[in-house]
Amino acid sequence: MAIKAVRGVRDILPSETGKWQRVEGAARGVFEAYGYREIRLPIFERTELFARGIGDETDIVKKEMYTFDDRGGDSLTLRPEATASLLRAYIEHGFQVEPKPVRLYTAGPMFRYERPQAGRYRQFHQANVEALGELNPAVDAEVICMLMDFFRALGLGERLALHVNSIGDAGDRAAYIARLLEYLRPHAASLCGECQGRLGRNPLRVLDCKVPDCQPVIEKAPSILDSLSPEAAKHFESVRGYLDVMGQPYTVTPRLVRGLDYYVRTTFEVKTADLGAQDAVAGGGRYDGLIEQLDGPADPGIGFAIGMERVVLLLGEQHQSASPVVQLIPLGEEPLRRLMPVARGLRQAGVATELAYGDRKLQRELERANRSGARYAVIVGETELAAGRAVIRDLRSRQQRDEAFAELPGVLLALAREARAERA
Ligand code: ATP
Ligand code: MG
Repeated sequence: MAIKAVRGVRDILPSETGKWQRVEGAARGVFEAYGYREIRLPIFERTELFARGIGDETDIVKKEMYTFDDRGGDSLTLRPEATASLLRAYIEHGFQVEPKPVRLYTAGPMFRYERPQAGRYRQFHQANVEALGELNPAVDAEVICMLMDFFRALGLGERLALHVNSIGDAGDRAAYIARLLEYLRPHAASLCGECQGRLGRNPLRVLDCKVPDCQPVIEKAPSILDSLSPEAAKHFESVRGYLDVMGQPYTVTPRLVRGLDYYVRTTFEVKTADLGAQDAVAGGGRYDGLIEQLDGPADPGIGFAIGMERVVLLLGEQHQSASPVVQLIPLGEEPLRRLMPVARGLRQAGVATELAYGDRKLQRELERANRSGARYAVIVGETELAAGRAVIRDLRSRQQRDEAFAELPGVLLALAREARAERA
C-alpha cells in the first residue's frame, strides 16, 4: 500500500501556493514597513525551553507537544509556537544591548498534537512578531495596528474583528482568580469535564474553553477588568487611547485571556465569523517577565502570532497561481533547436515562458497552452523556418500575426510587457 502523509499534516499544493506567497509577501511588506527585521529559528529546541517558557499547566505543554529523545539522549521538542524560541535567541545573541525596542519577526511551521479538523492541523504555519525591551503602551497599540494593516493589505479588513483586553499583572491575577473561582464553583456541574478539572489547576483557562455548553457560564463570569491594579488599568487606558488616535476600531472583551501562561496586561485576538469554530486568525499579548524567566535580562515584550492556514482559507478562491505569458510551440526537431535559445532569453528577461518539445500535434499543444492560461502562443514549423517567419497567436483575442523569426525576442518582450501592464 502506498504511504500517505501523517494525520493532521498536509501538503500545500501548487494550486494553493500562489495564495501562500501572497500572504507571506503581505506579512513581510507590512512588518518591514514598521521596522521589523526577520530572524529564522530552528524548528526544534530543548524540551525544557517550552516547559519553562509556555507553562507546565497549559494545554500545549500538557497534551500537544511532539517530544522525543534524540540519539544522544537529549529530550527535544518540535516547536509548538515561536515566542519561546525567539526569546531564547534574543538572550543567546545578546540582543538586549541594541536600541529598544528590538523589533523581530519570523515565520514557519509549528507542531501541535491536536484533533485535526478544518483550520486545525498538527503541522501548521504562523507568522510571529515580537517587540522587545519596551514598556511604553504606545508599542502595544503600534503592534496591534500593524497586525490589522497586514489583514487590510490582503483585503480582509472588513471580515475581521479586533478584540482587546487586559489581564493585569501577576499580582492582579491572583485576586481575580479567587473571585472567578467563587463564581465558577457553584456552576461546576454545568461545565464540561475538562473545565471541571481546570477549576483545580488553572481556572483562568475556563474562560478560553470552546465547548458550547460552557459558554453561558463563561459569559456571566466576573470581569478581570474590575481587578486591575491602578498601573495596569492606566496602561490599558493608554493602549486604547492610542488605538483611537490611529483610527483602529476594537471591542473590549474581558473574557479574552489567551491559552498561554506568560501573558500580562494587554492581550488581543483577531476573529472572523467565516471559519466556524476555528474563529481566531491571530492572537497575542504582552509578556513582561518571560525573558527573565528564561534567565535573560528583565526586558519586557509584546508580540502576536498569525495562523497562516486560516488566513489562506479566508482568501478563498480569489487568487490564481502564476501562469506563463508565452507558450513556444516548435513543430519538429529543427524548430525546437531554434526556439530553445529564444525561450532561454525570454526567461532570463523575467518573462514566464513555456517551451514544447516539438514532438506532439499542434492541436494538443494549443489545448495545453489554453489550459495553462498563457497569453501568447508562438508556432514555428519547418515551413515557417524555411521562410524565416513565425506565427504569434493571441490566445485571448484568437488573432494571429506573422513576424520575422529574427525579430521574435524583441516582439515577445514588448508583448509580455504590455500584458503585465494590463494585469496590474
Ligand atoms: P485556538 O484557540 O484556535 O486553539 P490558540 O489560542 O491555541 O488557538 P495561539 O497559540 O495563540 O492559538 O496561535 C495563534 C494562531 O495560530 C491562532 O489564532 C490560530 O489562527 C493559529 N493556530 C493555532 N493552533 C493551530 C492549529 N492547530 N492549526 C492551525 N492553526 C492554528
Ligand atoms: Mg489551541
